[in-house]
Amino acid sequence: MNKDSAYSAQLKKGFQLLSFEPDLEREFRQFHLRSVRGRVITCLLIAVLFSLWAVFASRSGTTPSPDFDMAANLRRWVIRPLSLVLIATALTPWLYKRLWLRLAPVVIGMSGVVSAYSSAGVVADGNYHAFVLMVSGLLGLLLLLGFLFWQVVTLGLIVAGSYVFFLAEQGGTGSVLGFEAAVLGAMYLLALVFSYNLEKSVRTTFLQMRILEDLGRLDSMTGLCNRGAFDESLEALWKQAIRDKKPLGLLLIDVDQFKNYNDAYGHQAGDRCLAQVADILKSSVNRPLDIAARVGGEEFALLCYASSQEYIRALGEQIRTRVRELDIPHSASEVATCVTVSVGAVVVEPTVGRSTESFVQFADQALYDAKSTGRDRVIFRDNEYAAVVTGAFKM
Ligand code: GH3
Ligand code: MG
Ligand code: MG
Repeated sequence: MNKDSAYSAQLKKGFQLLSFEPDLEREFRQFHLRSVRGRVITCLLIAVLFSLWAVFASRSGTTPSPDFDMAANLRRWVIRPLSLVLIATALTPWLYKRLWLRLAPVVIGMSGVVSAYSSAGVVADGNYHAFVLMVSGLLGLLLLLGFLFWQVVTLGLIVAGSYVFFLAEQGGTGSVLGFEAAVLGAMYLLALVFSYNLEKSVRTTFLQMRILEDLGRLDSMTGLCNRGAFDESLEALWKQAIRDKKPLGLLLIDVDQFKNYNDAYGHQAGDRCLAQVADILKSSVNRPLDIAARVGGEEFALLCYASSQEYIRALGEQIRTRVRELDIPHSASEVATCVTVSVGAVVVEPTVGRSTESFVQFADQALYDAKSTGRDRVIFRDNEYAAVVTGAFKM
């Protein structure tokens, strides 16, 4: 079981304050943004339709009093252009991914304060319907635009607070002021409870989903990728290497005389030995695209993207040496007094005429040669050798 995955560690540790470790938090926000995008766009569309209706209705009604000039100007010259930027952001995936959670709170906060100002003016004049608009708008914007809990806390406080402030300032009567402040306060608390609970369960689901995905991709004994995940990555990296014209390195690592090891020390000791070898492989993949996998009982593979021949050759040698340095006694080995591995290492430049199967076969041939020439060694082959030995380098 992959007990130390960042996801299960975070799930165990908890997240009362609704925040993960930095890397996980970044990943969660991207996941969250992807899942709320449809809702965000729908909500913006409704807001646009409503604004158009409001503009139309206000034109056919009475002209606004000069008191609201400042709000009207702010709306026309600041809020409207910013809202257009916001809509463009939501509609452009690239911008949405990077900007939404930063830009939306600012624009919504500003337009909330301006709306609070004009609504308070209307209510102070005795037209209470503006308050209903204010409350429903506030709830809708806080809950439907994909804000995270702490953004809801801040935005709600700013907008509801400024409404109460403006109403008091513009001469709202005591009883109206008290009633509306209480309603806004209650709605604000409701929004907080709702958004906290929602985010808590979305975060939990996110972690559980990732843990399940890992279970399907990882080898339960070693925590390395399993055969299926290795095959998937190989296909993907092969295609990417063709596109980018980059070389692909593959190391196949097989524990020497492991059957004898099991016979001499027992299956459980064998498992512990495999786990130790796997740890070395895990620490040997440092670059984001590279993967280490357990592809058979005591067989492992390292796939390295865009790595030089020198790097792959040195990596093979480093792995062989580090396994030897573990110094796990192996009295039944004909190779050494400790556990050793044989490594077949190859580097090729993938092209459309070549196949992943023959790539693996090429590395397997190198591993076979390492075994047949005495084990505990690295046999390295490159592109040129592939062309000479296997001709078209095809199955
Ligand atoms: P060679 O040096 O040629 O690789 O010899 P070998 O004995 O390592 O190779 P062989 O393929 O004959 O044996 C592999 C052994 O690995 C047989 C099997 O019992 C053992 N094995 C495979 N999977 C596991 C496992 O998960 N745990 C343990 N303890 N042993 C395993
Ligand atoms: Mg073996
Ligand atoms: Mg084997």
